[in-house]
Amino acid sequence: MSSVDTDSDVYKTLLESTKAIPWRIDWKTMTFSYIGPQIESLLGWKQDSWVGVNDWVERMHPDDRDYVVGFCVSQSRAGVDHEADYRALTLSGDYVWIRDVVHVVRKDGEVEALVGFMFDISERKKTEEHLLRLQKQLEEYSFQDGLTGIANRRMFDTVLEREWSTAQRTGSPLSLIILDIDYFKQYNDHYGHIKGDECLREVARTLSKAANRPRDFIARIGGEEFVWLLPDTDAESAGLVAHKCLHLIRQQRITHAFSAVSPLLSVSLGVGVTHASLHNTALEFVEQVDKLLYQAKHNGRARAQISDFRD
Ligand code: GH3
Ligand code: MG
Ligand code: MG
Repeated sequence: MSSVDTDSDVYKTLLESTKAIPWRIDWKTMTFSYIGPQIESLLGWKQDSWVGVNDWVERMHPDDRDYVVGFCVSQSRAGVDHEADYRALTLSGDYVWIRDVVHVVRKDGEVEALVGFMFDISERKKTEEHLLRLQKQLEEYSFQDGLTGIANRRMFDTVLEREWSTAQRTGSPLSLIILDIDYFKQYNDHYGHIKGDECLREVARTLSKAANRPRDFIARIGGEEFVWLLPDTDAESAGLVAHKCLHLIRQQRITHAFSAVSPLLSVSLGVGVTHASLHNTALEFVEQVDKLLYQAKHNGRARAQISDFRD
């Protein structure tokens, strides 16, 4: 046996025993001059069924095909080594995630062949997808109030910022209602925290019914404080939503024997409307509505204090 034979035997054994699948495509004829026998155990297609580059193209998920083929062809033409992830079709009709790592072989400045390895990356993809799902869930959780399931303070800040600039740009009125449960400390002290939490969940569910235009936004921004942000809404309409909140909570009839204003649980509301350029910042606006809430508390609770800042 010549040493050339020995070398190529070694390479062949090496190539065919690795889990990565080696292949070579002749550029001029666009045909496979080699593909590792491992391809059959991975995808089911026989080694000798890989003839032309079309066999590769056709055994690719239709959603990946245009992009991956276009990318690989342009990179190869430019003589640039590259890699691509795609779903390869198996003989049984399933798909396997493959990473193809490609080296462009050039001779006298011309592309002569492509050589590469296909790696089975299904497991890695599964992990990646799992991580993506977790990340999405995390994002959801961090914008969601864990107790009531409605948006939290962070989400409110984000939405307020967006609606604030829209209102300033369009000149449309933006209304804000801040709601606070009356004597909730007494509720907690007498009925306990578990009941208190239950009550907060019920209040959130009930308040959610008070408005329903697509951009109307409700959040729990503190312990027993909620907001309704109402874009494109004037003082009159905001007043209607506020009274609906009062009405819905009254209708809910949650016993609160330790409230100084009513035998049933009640809320107080500050209701403000801003017109573009009257307030410099969203924070100022929120602070003014907070003052209205304070007035509602001061004037006897279980009521709404409404102001249109034009006055
Ligand atoms: P006011 O009518 O002036 O609003 O009086 P209040 O007792 O409602 O107001 P205060 O701010 O003094 O008390 C709020 C109470 O809300 C304090 C705490 O007992 C309760 N609280 C805040 N966050 C939570 C929560 O997540 N779960 C429960 N169960 N209670 C909470
Ligand atoms: Mg409070
Ligand atoms: Mg309170």
